[in-house]
Amino acid sequence: MTNSVIPAARPLIGDEEREAVDRVMRSGMLAQGPEVAAFEAEFAALVGGAKCVAVNSGTSALHLALIALGVGRGDEVLVPSFTFAASANSIRLAGATPVFVDIDPATFCIDPKAAAAALTPRTRAVMPVHLYGHPADMGPIMALAEEHELHVIEDAAQAHAASLHGTPVGAFGVAACFSFYPTKNMTSGEGGMVSTPLEDIARMLRLLRNQGMEKRYENEVVGFNTRMTDLHAAIGRVQLTKLAGWTAQRQAHAKFFDQNLRGVVVPPVADGAVHVYHQYTVRVPDHDRDAFAAELMESGVSSGVYYPIPVHRLPSFAQTIDLPETERAAAEVLSLPVHPALNEGDLSRIVEAVNKAARAGS
Ligand SMILES: *Cc1c(COP(=O)(O)O)cnc(C)c1O
Repeated sequence: MTNSVIPAARPLIGDEEREAVDRVMRSGMLAQGPEVAAFEAEFAALVGGAKCVAVNSGTSALHLALIALGVGRGDEVLVPSFTFAASANSIRLAGATPVFVDIDPATFCIDPKAAAAALTPRTRAVMPVHLYGHPADMGPIMALAEEHELHVIEDAAQAHAASLHGTPVGAFGVAACFSFYPTKNMTSGEGGMVSTPLEDIARMLRLLRNQGMEKRYENEVVGFNTRMTDLHAAIGRVQLTKLAGWTAQRQAHAKFFDQNLRGVVVPPVADGAVHVYHQYTVRVPDHDRDAFAAELMESGVSSGVYYPIPVHRLPSFAQTIDLPETERAAAEVLSLPVHPALNEGDLSRIVEAVNKAARAGS
């Protein structure tokens, strides 16, 4: 077994998830129903009691949140370029314009000063991304938003249960969006959740996900079908009960790496931040990062680059703007396996492989 490759991510699906799906199958009620309602109620505990609306993906969560807040044509939304394309896609799909902002090199999250510098009279919203499971610097972002009357929409797709100075991510913005894609810190197969403190926004989200209907065939607005199924919600409910334990394991693995890795820059944690390590992302500044990753693979350790091309340079956005910290991160970052399925042997192998590659290349 020691020669098997350690995967970069591995969803943990147990008998409880299988039994929950089977329970829904036997009920004969597969689409959105009581399991979704229960999942929403239970997830609220993670976001300080905010109202939760489940949808079919994290991307749908972001898209519907923007529409529910009235962000659309002619509006600009500040968003980091160093993120998964879905953050910016959702803005474009809502008809608005993403304005790409550089990151703070210490956290990989949006730089509030750069966000302030990118304001225009058209700026309507800001979308901080809690990248890799580290909370964005929400104090200055909230202050900026208050001063300029911007909506704050948190992209918390990678950050279930992260927090900053005791406030959980998802409890800062007027909306926050989570993903339950299989590689995220918890999964429902596919799925997403919007949390919001405002009942009128929650109601609009419920309408938008269901063709604009609250009462059947009395469509109030033009909406989508972005409902979550009860099958997926049943999986998510079980996973939610395991999240705290898995998060603690991710944090313990990260601590082991922090203490034992040499020759790479380990991820800093901001003062007051609880990092949930969706990714454990190092910088390999003194090496060719891709050659470094290839060396890890020779030692049987998978790794990932999130993300090699900043969103503003993807063919889908193709902007020529200067975001130096974003470019530097894209060239240097490497994410190591940190998921809860790792055992002690795996952790030692990862440390040995990284330290060997760092020595070899220096
Ligand atoms: C995964 C992810 C999304 C999109 O979530 P899906 O469920 O895959 O649609 C959005 N933003 C970020 C930062 C993500 O990592």
